[in-house]
Amino acid sequence: MKNQPKELETPYYLCEEELLENNLKILDRVQKESGVKVILALKGFAMWSTFELVSKYLQGCTASGLYEAKLAREEFCKFNPHAEVHTYSPAFKESEIEEIASISDHIVFNSPNQLKKFLCKVKEINPKIDISLRVNPEVSSSPVDIYNPCGLYSRLGTTLENMDEESLKQVDGLNFHALCEQDVDALEAVLESFEEKFAQYLPNLKYVNFGGGHHITKKGYNVDGVIWIIKEFKKKYNNIDVYLEPGEAVGWETGYLVSSVLDTFKNGMNIAILDTSAEAHMPDTLAMPYRAEVRGAGEAGEKKYTYRLGGNTCLAGDIMGDYSFDKPLKVGDTLIFEDQIHYTFVKNTTFNGIKLPSLAIKRRDGTVELIREFGYEDYKNRLS
Ligand SMILES: *Cc1c(COP(=O)(O)O)cnc(C)c1O
Repeated sequence: MKNQPKELETPYYLCEEELLENNLKILDRVQKESGVKVILALKGFAMWSTFELVSKYLQGCTASGLYEAKLAREEFCKFNPHAEVHTYSPAFKESEIEEIASISDHIVFNSPNQLKKFLCKVKEINPKIDISLRVNPEVSSSPVDIYNPCGLYSRLGTTLENMDEESLKQVDGLNFHALCEQDVDALEAVLESFEEKFAQYLPNLKYVNFGGGHHITKKGYNVDGVIWIIKEFKKKYNNIDVYLEPGEAVGWETGYLVSSVLDTFKNGMNIAILDTSAEAHMPDTLAMPYRAEVRGAGEAGEKKYTYRLGGNTCLAGDIMGDYSFDKPLKVGDTLIFEDQIHYTFVKNTTFNGIKLPSLAIKRRDGTVELIREFGYEDYKNRLS
């Protein structure tokens, strides 16, 4: 835990370019061998200073609304003018639809209502835009409810029962998104249901978007399996275009969050307070929840010295968990939370006025570049 660049003050996220490129190469292999187009879901990973690299491999971005679409247009398409911007929102707003239409290549509606409401305007502004509808295949094995787009009473996507034939005549494609951190077996189950319900409409369509949640870059993922499934699907449906739009799989294990110990003491057990926060900087650890790995640390009791690691906010539950170490923790020690590049800084808050972690990139040649530092202004400007 030495070699920390002097100019970098904790807390900071460090994304390693080489690891990111390794992921992009795996995704590119899937593209080349299956014919699928892979686009980046900005919701999970939006470190736009890496987009020069990302745009060498991926075909565009998927945006969840106006701001992400603007970011894709400004920071991704400048490196690849052919890159595509796909914009989906659970519901578009009247005040934003014109700008969204003007900067999107594909627009994905969540319901026939929204499609009917905005279709004419969108086509008038951008006659070349492709229109899609998100459908709900009503099958999902997503591990937790908060990340299950096809759960009971889901608002995400239109079920077959709520479909109307008129809307389907207007669309160029269909989208579904039903997975979360899953392998090929889960995709197969979703596809089976999708085809059972919606295959009847495919002969008239240009494409189907299989959404995100494919854990393609995780060790052990069945990459050959997904390639096979996509090829078979394309063969079956007259070489229809297929998209995947992963977020997590792009940023997966490409870097970490580096923090420092600010204080240690005892209250029934050892406690350490860090200059970061589970609530503000690693929100999924509390929302999902899951335990982030700490480099060099074990489970509670596994090594000699166990500590409860806590954040620097006043939220009682701002706790990363109990971890054990070979040596007692000291003020100033560096602690590294692994795999903190996806769904972290895209969700961060300035809760309690604590500093947002800086963003840094480790280049291929080993140099570490500080990309962005945040300060008091970032906190103040969100309030008034
Ligand atoms: C979140 C989301 C994605 C990306 O999901 P990952 O799990 O990060 O791959 C793709 N498409 C839609 C519609 C989403 O909501």
